[in-house]
Amino acid sequence: MNDPALTIERIFLDAACLDYPLTRRIRERLSGTPEEIVQDPKTFLEEYRQKRTDPLGDGKRALWLTRQKGDFLKPCPCTPHYLGCRYVTINLDLNCPLDCTYCILQLYLSNPLLTVFVNTPDLWLELDAFLGRRQGGGQVRIGTGELGDSLALDPITERSRELIPYFRQHPEALFELKTKSTHIQNLLTIDPAPNIVIAWSLNAPAVAQEDEGGAPPVSERIEAARRVVEQGFRTAFHFDPLIRHPGWKEGYAGVIRQLSARIPSDRIAWISLGALRFPPALKEIMAQRHPDSRLLYEEFIRGLDGKFRYFKPHRLEMLFFTAERLREGLGREVPLYLCMESSEIWRRVLKKEPAGEEDIEGYLTSPAGLCQFT
Ligand code: SF4
Repeated sequence: MNDPALTIERIFLDAACLDYPLTRRIRERLSGTPEEIVQDPKTFLEEYRQKRTDPLGDGKRALWLTRQKGDFLKPCPCTPHYLGCRYVTINLDLNCPLDCTYCILQLYLSNPLLTVFVNTPDLWLELDAFLGRRQGGGQVRIGTGELGDSLALDPITERSRELIPYFRQHPEALFELKTKSTHIQNLLTIDPAPNIVIAWSLNAPAVAQEDEGGAPPVSERIEAARRVVEQGFRTAFHFDPLIRHPGWKEGYAGVIRQLSARIPSDRIAWISLGALRFPPALKEIMAQRHPDSRLLYEEFIRGLDGKFRYFKPHRLEMLFFTAERLREGLGREVPLYLCMESSEIWRRVLKKEPAGEEDIEGYLTSPAGLCQFT
């Protein structure tokens, strides 16, 4: 995978953000990259979109340094009518230099640039207040990686070198960095802690190659995971989105064989499974940006949340097959969970029926081996 320092072609700087230490650090890392100072962010972003035929593609090579004016922390929105897990997201960076055909950000974010919120001091204040309010409650699962990739820009931002030491002091949080990249160089210089989890999204090799533009092969992601485990970190994996394609069973089974051969199961905090789902409006964007994607020709139904999903028997088959291979390869102690699925699918795939989101949260934050529903 390319170093992002090599792919950034231009830096746009919000004039109000020039003095933040993170702005200075990034400018040093990328010295020599053309820069433009922006006085009026709103007009700038509107014009950036309007003047380009593929603003999303161009935006993947341009950095926008600005301030988070809203809240950094948000409850994960999950999806209506399905079970969530009370995850809390930290929205530090928006967008991602990779270009997955199915990426929901193509639809959700109106700002197409690789956006880094540089007002980190405000983040620490917000986190202190949030975690302070939870004192005495159970552990909260919290992570970056919902509106971007947690490590894709880490060689430039070095966020991991600040976030991990912060959360090491806060065992009331279980902090996850979630990535498809192999940019682990900063992690290999940091002391691990039991409440820090480094997670990789994995997929069958054919999907990784055809639908995850710019992402490293799955075998390299697993090797990166092996190295962070060697460094002492716990890890996690997300088989999401599972995608039907010719040879999908062998594709997913092969990845699970690699995973179980290289990562000890007692170093895996959790594994999530999710079958492909997306709002209908994303299909139009896919057709424009990824006209050769096989996903355009698949048959889907509309779920209760209005999103396209595979027919239930297909969904069940994929989730069940993958869960069984994971159990065979890694044992039954590794907590598996389903992302955005109903209680019925939980029962049929995992033979567990959580009473609600609190139950799932408790299940995923229990020490390994004690993972039971109430
Ligand atoms: S890695 Fe994640 S955030 Fe980046 S393009 Fe792919 S799906 Fe989107």
